Parts: sequence; C-alpha cells; structure tokens
Amino acid sequence: MSRYWSPIVSRLRPYVAGEQPRIPGLVKLNTNENPYGPSPKALGAIRKVADDRLRLYPDPAATQLREAIAARFGLTAEEVFVGNGSDEVLAHAFQALLNHDLPLLYPDVSYSFYPTYSLLYGIGAIEIPVDDKFRIRLSDYDRPCGAIIIPNPNAPTGIGLPLAGIEALLAAHPDAVVVIDEAYVDFGGESAVPLISRYPNLLVIQTLSKSRSFAGLRVGFALGHRDLIEALVRVKDSFNSYPLDRLAQVAATAAIKDEAWLETSRRKIIASRESLVRELESLDFEVLPSQANFVFARHESRSGASLQLALRERRVLVRHFAKPRISEFLRISIGTDEECALLVSTIREILAV
Ligand code: PMP
Repeated sequence: MSRYWSPIVSRLRPYVAGEQPRIPGLVKLNTNENPYGPSPKALGAIRKVADDRLRLYPDPAATQLREAIAARFGLTAEEVFVGNGSDEVLAHAFQALLNHDLPLLYPDVSYSFYPTYSLLYGIGAIEIPVDDKFRIRLSDYDRPCGAIIIPNPNAPTGIGLPLAGIEALLAAHPDAVVVIDEAYVDFGGESAVPLISRYPNLLVIQTLSKSRSFAGLRVGFALGHRDLIEALVRVKDSFNSYPLDRLAQVAATAAIKDEAWLETSRRKIIASRESLVRELESLDFEVLPSQANFVFARHESRSGASLQLALRERRVLVRHFAKPRISEFLRISIGTDEECALLVSTIREILAV
C-alpha cells in the first residue's frame, strides 16, 4: 500500500492464479492445461511468420482469425471478437456489457475472476448459491437483473447445464445480457452457440487454452450479435488496439482450422477423465459429475488442504480453494494416462491403502 495508489487499487482483490512452478519434473494437474501439445499445424504456422515481419504491428482487427472462427461456428466475422485469453475477453465484457443499474447475477460457486472484475469495474453483483449438490439452479435467476454470467460447464465443479435451460434463461431475460463462459465446453458440454441467431442478448465466450492446448498463446474469443461485439470492440480500442500479436493470430487461425487434432485431443481427455473418476471413487472420493478437463473431488475422511499439501510434497500439483463450501475438494486437471496413474498411486501412498 502506498499514498501514490489510486483509491480503487487498495480496494481490489486480485485473482490468485494457480502455481506455475519454476522447478522441472512436477506432475502438473493444477491449472487445467491440456497435457498434449498444440496442433503441429499451428506450431508450424508460428515458425513460418517468425521473421522480419515482426517489426510491423499486427492486424488490429485480427481479420483472418475472426473469419476462421466465424467459419468454424457458422457465423459472420462481425459476430466474433478476439482477445488476449478469455480472461481479457471477459474483462472487456464485464466493462462493456455487464455493468448496469440492476445487478449482475452469477453463481457462487463459479470462476473466481467474476468477483474480481465486478470490484474492478464497480459492478453491483449478487452471487446466487449453487444447490446442495453444487448444481446451478436456473430458477434462482428469476429476479430483476441487468446481466447474468454463468460458466458452462461450471468451474471449478465441472458440472454442465443443458441447452434447454440456457434457452429458457435467455427467453426469460430479454432485457438482460446473458454471458455463457464456455472455457471447458469441448469436453462434453452443450454449447449455446446455436442460440446466437435467435437471442441478441447472448454472448458466448470460449478459449484456445484448454481443448486446443494453447494456454501459453493467450487467445480467447466471444461470439454473439454484432451489437454486443461492437461494444467489446469499443472497449478494446480504448484500452489496447493490438491485443493479439502476429504469432498468436496465425497460430490461432491454424489451430481453429485443425478440427482433426481437436477431436483426437478431446476424446483422449474424456476417456482419461472417465477412468480417473472410477479410480478416485474406488479410493473413497466423491467426484462431482464433470463435463470438463478436470474433476472436483472430496475424500471421505482426509481434508482437501492436507491432501493437496501431501501431494505437493510428492511433486504432484493439484488445486485447492480455501473457500467456504468447497474447501474439502481438490480440483484435479486431467493429464496423460501416465500422469493420472502417478496421481492415483501417490494418493494410495498418502492414504496408505
Ligand atoms: N473461464 C473459466 C471458467 C476458466 O476456468 C478460465 C481459466 N482459468 C478462463 C475463463 C480463462 O482462460 P484463458 O484466459 O486462458 O482463456
């Protein structure tokens, strides 16, 4: 704290990211990265543009990338916004679309960046508790609001919502913007993208960080009616007109086009998730039903905090949230089958079973 800070800075509660270790050799199952490297075609595309052209600014509108995303989802480029990771896209959405006189609604439990952005932009938000099985109950959102944001599948629970529920929510709130954060949708969730043509109040946000294994590239995107997209562009151009560098633009374009790579990676991860769930259940964990590339699990008798620490001591990283209601849980990202097997054997060792 310093007298030079603006008053808002001392009130901020910044997001605390999961550990990105500096020592090699850890089994890293704590930040929902994809264990398989990105599409080789996308890596090749980076190499091809890593030359003298980097002295030039990139296309501020990322036209090629937006066109590739539009083609993939059956939309037009005016219905696509891209940013530096979906965190940045979310930040712009909070500022451009979620700040109204009536409150913003989002679930408690959900992505911990939402309260951070609400505070940063001075948005009056109401957290709607999930039910006793950690499910989002959409009928609880039937109340006056200016906007709603819901991750689907939810994070960190992994629980998905059916499309019919989302459509009912959109129809019930024609005057509110509804943002669906689909960071994990490719691992078995139902995407709301097909609803965009019928609901001008719907914004869907996705990322290349998870199913396309490009967390290090930082590319996320939003899809929605062109009026919503225009609001995001206005905020972007008032903040940083070049959010995506040249390398990110070409790599992301190639990654979006590599449908075969995506299909293989998501199938492998879904299969590994299902076998990890069975293993954890056999070790007396309760595992919430996951449609994501992670599972959220609590042990019958060992606390989440102590298990996380014991795993860390044995060089296995998983995520623990010291928050009410979810502090008994561990969030475990799906790794390769070898990594999942090592996690399970390490848990056996800790539990001495
Ligand atoms: N939304 C949710 C629900 C997430 O869990 C994450 C990952 N932390 C993000 C968005 C942001 O992902 P990225 O910025 O890597 O696109």
